[in-house]
Amino acid sequence: MIVRSMELTGFRNYTSLKTGFASGTNVIYGENAQGKTNLLEAIGYLSSAHSHRARYDRELIQFNQDSALLKAELFSRNRTFLLEAKLIRGGRRQLFSNGVRLKTTAELSGVLNTVLFCPEDLYLIREGAAARRRFLDDCISQLRPRYAAALGEYKRLYEHKTRILRDWEEKKSLLDTLDEFNFRMAQTGALLIHYRAHFIRRLRETAPPVHWDFSGGREHLELSYQTVSTIPHPEAQPKELLPLLLEHQASHRRAELESRSCLSGPHKDDLAVSLNGISAKTYGSQGQTRTAALSLKLASREIFYQDTGEYPVLLLDDVLSELDARRQAFVLNRISGGQVFITCCEEERLEQLTGGKTFHIQNGALI
Ligand code: ATP
Ligand code: MG
Repeated sequence: MIVRSMELTGFRNYTSLKTGFASGTNVIYGENAQGKTNLLEAIGYLSSAHSHRARYDRELIQFNQDSALLKAELFSRNRTFLLEAKLIRGGRRQLFSNGVRLKTTAELSGVLNTVLFCPEDLYLIREGAAARRRFLDDCISQLRPRYAAALGEYKRLYEHKTRILRDWEEKKSLLDTLDEFNFRMAQTGALLIHYRAHFIRRLRETAPPVHWDFSGGREHLELSYQTVSTIPHPEAQPKELLPLLLEHQASHRRAELESRSCLSGPHKDDLAVSLNGISAKTYGSQGQTRTAALSLKLASREIFYQDTGEYPVLLLDDVLSELDARRQAFVLNRISGGQVFITCCEEERLEQLTGGKTFHIQNGALI
């Protein structure tokens, strides 16, 4: 997958930008707060209709503007695509592929996939489980539209059930609907667990060799999927998982009512990472956990490649400066083959390392 060119109008600090890109490495450099991350964010947005750092689309629209337009010409699946996203202040966002309005955001992932690595991701292993679930959800959603739909449904059900559990004492009639919500959550949850288990099985094949190389042949990485305790084999078919989830819910019913929160289900899942048999989250050093985080992301890129026959576009935001020279060299070697966007502040160092095309960004413009 290659982003050949891009046009931004009224997006963040880009009033109007039009530029082509190299099919290999693109180095985006400039001082702080000039728009480097904004550019990566725009590319990421076209793959998922979602920004990694904005909660609402309106944050992406330039101050004092009513709309933003993102356009990209892509080469994907041996074809050329024109993807467009129109963000409207106070209105619904619109997505187009070759001029045809898309009905769901999932359709974007059939055209453009991205793997983003930003400075916060360096803490992927150390953070709470939510960060690792986000990593899994993001990867699987791009690969399996059905998963993205189930995840959206599960979140809606979860919010609804949370409201029931929060308010039931004041309004007892709410409990009448609890069983139905439990059942639907278990059904959707079973699907999520099934997909997560399969994705983690593949990560288990791809991530250890990446990390082995990355650590200079010193560290063996292991992954395990931690889900609802009544489930011994998460890879089983969703219909086999359903009764096990219902059983777990039933045994936690009282505790949920008492704590007024939703305790049972895959919204508590985690991906446990160990290095040489020891929990990375609990015992890993800073360097080890950062390296392992990058290994997971690079491994997910391999999985996309195996699945689609094309490398997803890799977006590396400010990451290389955080790594030592050996690890930088490893990353730059490992990512050859697909299109990459790297942002950095120090131009010379990266230029000599990558030999890619460079873009100097200043105040929302190319100079
Ligand atoms: P750093 O090196 O510090 O990471 P950067 O080049 O990656 O910097 P960006 O995060 O891309 O910087 O851009 C930040 C700039 O964009 C800020 O100055 C911010 O004020 C501006 N900005 C963010 N959102 C908007 C918006 N909606 N409208 C206009 N400007 C915006
Ligand atoms: Mg930045």
